[in-house]
Amino acid sequence: MCVFCEIINGNIPSTKVYEDDMMVAFKDLNPQAPVHVLAVPKEHICCANAITAENSKYVAHIFEKLPEIAKSQGIDSYRIINNCGDDAGQTVKHLHFHLLGGIKMEEGLLK
Ligand code: 5GP
Ligand code: ZN
Repeated sequence: MCVFCEIINGNIPSTKVYEDDMMVAFKDLNPQAPVHVLAVPKEHICCANAITAENSKYVAHIFEKLPEIAKSQGIDSYRIINNCGDDAGQTVKHLHFHLLGGIKMEEGLLK
């Protein structure tokens, strides 16, 4: 079972900031910004390439909830990042969206 599925089922501890029947959001273990939350569907979807008409409701739901999750962390300006595949730096093969904020970011998307 993947690490995020283990977090979802409670076998691996995490600092959860939001949870409902479709998703969980928890603090990244290795934060890259003052606010760094991972928003994860409760269904194991390996990556953006595996989003389909059947499971895209999870993605829609996450994006519906991200603004209130950001607000709960004290920010209303943020960056949402999804890494898809090895070349993009995806290390955990369970679809997730990084919610990053709390610091003024550069305009460029890549370092
Ligand atoms: P990726 O590189 O796949 O886009 O992002 C994976 C993220 O998951 C990384 O930012 C990494 O710090 C985070 N991460 C990996 N394992 C764990 C864990 O066990 N707990 C938490 N909270 N974050 C994790
Ligand atoms: Zn998983």
